[in-house]
Amino acid sequence: MKIKIDLVLSNGYTLGPVKTELQSEDKSFYKGVKRELKILDNAIKKSLKDIDETQVKEPKLKDYFLAQRFMISDPMLYSKAKELIEQGLPAKKAFKEAMNDFITNLNKSTSAYLKERIADLEDVVQIINSNIDYDIKNKEDESYILICDKVRPSTLIHDHKNILGIISRVGGFTSHSAILSRSWSIPYVVLEELPKLNDGDIIIIDTRKNIVIVSPESDLIEKCKKEIEEKSSYENVAIEHNDFLFLANVSTNKDIDRVLNSNFDAIGLYRTELIFMNSKKPYTEEEQYTIYSEATELMKDKFITFRTFDVGDDKQIEYLVTNHKGFDNYIKNPKIFEDQVKALLRANKYNNMRIMFPMIETEEEFIYLKNWVLRLANEGGYNIPKIGMMLETKKALATIETFIEPDFLSIGTNDLTHELYNISRDDETNEIFNHIQELLESLKKVVEFCKKRDICLSICGELASIKDVAKEFYKIGIKNLSVSPASMVMLNMAYDEYINNK
Ligand code: PEP
Ligand code: MG
Repeated sequence: MKIKIDLVLSNGYTLGPVKTELQSEDKSFYKGVKRELKILDNAIKKSLKDIDETQVKEPKLKDYFLAQRFMISDPMLYSKAKELIEQGLPAKKAFKEAMNDFITNLNKSTSAYLKERIADLEDVVQIINSNIDYDIKNKEDESYILICDKVRPSTLIHDHKNILGIISRVGGFTSHSAILSRSWSIPYVVLEELPKLNDGDIIIIDTRKNIVIVSPESDLIEKCKKEIEEKSSYENVAIEHNDFLFLANVSTNKDIDRVLNSNFDAIGLYRTELIFMNSKKPYTEEEQYTIYSEATELMKDKFITFRTFDVGDDKQIEYLVTNHKGFDNYIKNPKIFEDQVKALLRANKYNNMRIMFPMIETEEEFIYLKNWVLRLANEGGYNIPKIGMMLETKKALATIETFIEPDFLSIGTNDLTHELYNISRDDETNEIFNHIQELLESLKKVVEFCKKRDICLSICGELASIKDVAKEFYKIGIKNLSVSPASMVMLNMAYDEYINNK
């Protein structure tokens, strides 16, 4: 049976046995205080390790991981769980009940921030429970395709090594689970009406053809296995793409290996603030120089676009004076800006660097920062890199014709769609799809403007990673898309379909 996919959240081609995520009754039985406490302690330890490992992989979700870490290590929560274990509850039930108490109290809180975190905290119970089960079974499961109503990030964090693909009934493109599945190259699709399936049934997910095949014939299974083997290495490497740039978004030097292995043309966005967020004190110029030099050296003949630290709002750093994201953060933290720029300029030994400023609202702001960089370059006698900006504010979009100084523009659709349509980054409803045409219309003038000025235009927001939206960007003349290194498969598909009019 073939079923049309309603929405692709992470592209790919996969085959495997089904496992349905059952909301089964907790059948764990009590093994005594000492043993249950040990089970809980082990699960907490393993959960913290899983979170730390995943955070390195996907630093953009730092807030989510911080909240989880904070909760899992909370002494009040632990002592409540311990008390319940001592009263005779097994570890799993005790932790769940202790957390329920906590959530009930949070619900009473007037803080909107705390209330927003409740969904993340409910997921903490899931992480601990999975690790208690893991401890009890103490064995790896077989690989499987997960079928569920809604995927919890905790399921992916805990079991991504065994998950071949995901089908859920609901799911949002910018949800944590979708971001994580793209990061691990796990195909993930939404079927609004899930077919009736039993654990062990074989299915194929093929996002190139936009179908799910349930219980395929054995011939098809063999054919599919062979294709997956042959294609897996090919699809992660860029196909030929004249005159277009396949660009990568990175947050650490560790990502650069994958950029090179997949043969991306260059780095379209290096989110430098994620380096800062991993430290409790400001990085010195020297420390930053070491990091940026390694990156420019690794990329050598390919350009690398460093975005100066972009903090504020959801990205706060203890030692920085910030409120909202944007220009003011550099004015309020001049020493930190100068240290970063000097480290960058010194690291530009191969002349392959571009520097870009985030959240710019006016041409005056851009010129101020550009002149600041030029002054530091002249003082130090360094090569002058190309200096450009992110186009991600409503104000800059409205006045784009006034921006005659940037050497290049990169559109940040995450912030731009938030400002234009009030769409939150955690949007699970895919509201964004109702605004794509409107957005494309308003970006046409940016395309014209960049053509007239003969400067490079790219897109580095998450929308560039949605195959059908990427094709729309190509159609209006935006040829350079910057995506996470795991999205090379998607870029290949979008380009191939666009060029061949599929
Ligand atoms: C964006 O806003 O689209 C973007 C790429 O920047 P960030 O997601 O880091 O804010
Ligand atoms: Mg942004």
